[in-house]
Amino acid sequence: MRAPRAERAAPEVEVLRLGHRPGRDPRLTTHLALTARAFGVRTLYLNPPDPGLADRLAQVRRRWGGDFTIEPAADWHRLVREWKGSVVHLTMYGLPLESVLSHLRKRRRILVAVGGAKVPSNLYQSATWNVAVGGQPHSEVAALAVLLDRLRGIPRPERFEGAEQRIVPSARHKHVISARGKRA
Ligand code: SAM
Repeated sequence: MRAPRAERAAPEVEVLRLGHRPGRDPRLTTHLALTARAFGVRTLYLNPPDPGLADRLAQVRRRWGGDFTIEPAADWHRLVREWKGSVVHLTMYGLPLESVLSHLRKRRRILVAVGGAKVPSNLYQSATWNVAVGGQPHSEVAALAVLLDRLRGIPRPERFEGAEQRIVPSARHKHVISARGKRA
């Protein structure tokens, strides 16, 4: 009898956020970074760079664990050009996610690029794939969450090592304990 095929590892994913506006409502990029982190991404490259936002996410990491960082990406063209792996640009104008998902799952490393209000048109040419999560406009946060869930699923809480505190799942209450097991 043939041995069962070894399960393929899920692709390693990093994120490039374009069109961030430092000093103007940082909430959307913060939510994008929190979402990337919660779904197991280790690095988010930010263009233009924003050290303040990177510091705030470092505080989240100290409290909630894991190894997520925000890296400045002043030259995003170079990052995309020199990326060793595939570049997936999330855009409503791209190919439907369902039609490319099986190909994406076979990749080893993926850089997911998301835009803001405007997206540089040459990104469409530099990306390996332009991928749509539904054919309607919505949000980079929603598009990223759906893609990461389809590609790799939601990481288990143990993935976030070194946390100061952790959540005890509860049907009715907010229950948080310190990493040493005391109520936080
Ligand atoms: N007019 C912009 C454009 O050219 O795509 C829309 C910007 S939208 C507010 C911000 C980002 O959300 C886009 O750059 C894209 O990354 C993501 N996005 C929005 N809708 C999407 C969809 N249906 N599929 C994939 N990504 C989407």
